[in-house]
Amino acid sequence: MLDIQKIRADFPILSEKVNGKPLIYFDNGATSQKPQVVIDAEAKYYQEINANIHRGVHTLSQLATDAYEISRVKLQHHINAKFSHEVLFTSGTTHGINLVANGFASILKPGDEVLVSSLEHHSNIVPWQMLCEKTGAVLKVIPINEEGELIISEYESLLSEKTKIVTVNHISNALGVINPVKEMIAKAHAVGAAVLIDGAQAVPHLKPDVQDLDCDFYAFSGHKMCGPTGTGILYGKEAWLNKLPPYQGGGEMIKEVTFEKTTYADLPHKFEAGTPNIAGGIVLGTAVDYLNEVGFGNIQLQEKKLLEHATKRLLEIEGLRIYGNGKNKASVVSFNIDGIHPYDIGSIIDKLGIAVRTGHHCAQPIMNFFCIPGTIRASFSFYNTKEEIDEMVEAVKKAKTMLS
Ligand SMILES: *Cc1c(COP(=O)(O)O)cnc(C)c1O
Repeated sequence: MLDIQKIRADFPILSEKVNGKPLIYFDNGATSQKPQVVIDAEAKYYQEINANIHRGVHTLSQLATDAYEISRVKLQHHINAKFSHEVLFTSGTTHGINLVANGFASILKPGDEVLVSSLEHHSNIVPWQMLCEKTGAVLKVIPINEEGELIISEYESLLSEKTKIVTVNHISNALGVINPVKEMIAKAHAVGAAVLIDGAQAVPHLKPDVQDLDCDFYAFSGHKMCGPTGTGILYGKEAWLNKLPPYQGGGEMIKEVTFEKTTYADLPHKFEAGTPNIAGGIVLGTAVDYLNEVGFGNIQLQEKKLLEHATKRLLEIEGLRIYGNGKNKASVVSFNIDGIHPYDIGSIIDKLGIAVRTGHHCAQPIMNFFCIPGTIRASFSFYNTKEEIDEMVEAVKKAKTMLS
């Protein structure tokens, strides 16, 4: 069992006041808060070992390089990748997806198909649309049902030998639905398609095992899992990373440069052009250590309690509808109240110190499916409490009375 008060004390921002009220932070789906160890590690890097990596023979450069590479190995073990060179540092999920989509431009032919799901974040839609425009490939979309779940029978009938890559999120950011990715990956492989999993919303809640999933690519961001902004990981199977061309050209990613011909560096450096977010990459490792110390079993238990409590309490409010009611859900509740714009509720409860997200959550196709402009999304982390949820429910009730 987690000692929640002790955990909360690790996060300095949770003792802040917003609009004169104690902060209740339920926008964890947009970004998580950071524990003091992460904040301290960032400062410590700049205070003690700041230098550019992989370049100098001098001591600081080696210390920085070692710390960066140790973090890579930490991330490798965290997601159970076979090799550390399959773990690429990126600036986030968006960067990772664009790297793969860009690489597939050299693989796809007109008439080939790219399969995305209706549950995707815009950053897992637009890069594939751009790829299709460039190559003449066709974008196909896996539909969802009224519960916000992917319709697997439809997915099966969309798969064919024309499908070259399937790209789907592990957990939906807008609804919190957990997708049956392992099963979907096996089905895609059966027709010879590669699979990219957008793990941005999964990594705060679970420890993905990329070998067990057998995904070809797995992309996620550091900032949603207690790490710094501008950090992320793209996992890719060695064979795929060898096959894809580099995404950007520049320093670090070359073996030899002449004006006649340049040869590329080995993995992972081939995909890591330029000076990266060194501090961020190192501190992402600190964030992963922190989460593992808390323990993903404990995190899931606490978040399950919060999800059940929030669902039950919110449904007490007349005219409130929750979107995404599948059995497998992360601690996200996306809802609306009849006849009231989500933005109005969000603004009123913000005055009471409660941070939720309102809008389309970068997933407009889902909102179009439900014929709504957006939702109010409360996304919980293990450091949230039932008492905070009760306060939100009272605030939403108050807002409803004011707006009806
Ligand atoms: C947040 C998010 C992204 C984009 O992540 P960035 O950190 O902005 O690059 C992509 N997909 C999902 C499901 C997300 O939740």
